[in-house]
Amino acid sequence: MPANRVVQGRMVTPHSLAELVEDDDVMEAESIEDTDRECPDCGGDVVSVGYMPSVTEYVTGYKCQECDWRETDRE
Ligand SMILES: [Zn+2]
Repeated sequence: MPANRVVQGRMVTPHSLAELVEDDDVMEAESIEDTDRECPDCGGDVVSVGYMPSVTEYVTGYKCQECDWRETDRE
């Protein structure tokens, strides 16, 4: 059962959260995890999601639950 979260006032699934971080379609997404990070822009809570934008790539994405801030672990 996917653990949905509220991000910027909207309920997101792991898949839709990954698409928000990627700003594009993704193939697969794992469950949404809480982190102990704070958003550098607004101080809000940051959640993470691991996802595969393509068959050859695995990315961990981070997204603020309150504002547009997002980040990935891509080099
Ligand atoms: Zn924020």
